[in-house]
Amino acid sequence: MRLLLSLSGGLDSTTLLAHALSLNHDVQPVVFSYPSKHNPFEREAANAVCRYYDCDPIHIDLRAAFEPMASALLLGGGDIPEGHYTDQSMTQTVVPGRNMIFLSVLGGIAMSAKTGMVWFGAHAGDHAIYPDCRPDFVQAMDQAMMLATDGKVRLNAPYLMANKTDILRDALRLNAPLHLTRTCYKNQAKPCGLCGACRERAEAFETLAANDPCL
Ligand SMILES: [Zn+2]
Repeated sequence: MRLLLSLSGGLDSTTLLAHALSLNHDVQPVVFSYPSKHNPFEREAANAVCRYYDCDPIHIDLRAAFEPMASALLLGGGDIPEGHYTDQSMTQTVVPGRNMIFLSVLGGIAMSAKTGMVWFGAHAGDHAIYPDCRPDFVQAMDQAMMLATDGKVRLNAPYLMANKTDILRDALRLNAPLHLTRTCYKNQAKPCGLCGACRERAEAFETLAANDPCL
């Protein structure tokens, strides 16, 4: 099956890519530019993951679309909060409609390329903080994508009910190139270890008694 997925270069989308390739799907990764503080590091990671798997990504520049939006994750927003993902402060890192926007673009590309499936790396750990990672959103977006493409493109989120530890377990099973991935939200090359994204990743490695090759 041919499918399209957004590759951020993080643990989740890299594992999603590894999972799709392990099932012998013909995968087209798409890498988005948008003005998040960590986006330059993400894109570097995504490109490295594509080189590792010998995939040729499509690069889409959405910087202008996100300029009017307010989020601590974006350049010009407040400081990235530190602490656990479930803390209220982490809602500051929501980028309004980000996945809805990314998925809309992916749906259009998929239809143009006659690719019938878009995969999305949302997981259960995202549900509390990020509205456009929740099952009801994924179901509605699948419906919207199907209606907008006259039934030609569907949306699937294979890790929707999995948590970060489940995804890491899959990544280790599939020998995904975790050493190339980027998770931290901050505008710095080295992972901070303190933001919600770093904390969630660290907890998954701790749970599985594995070492994070990026630290
Ligand atoms: Zn961090």
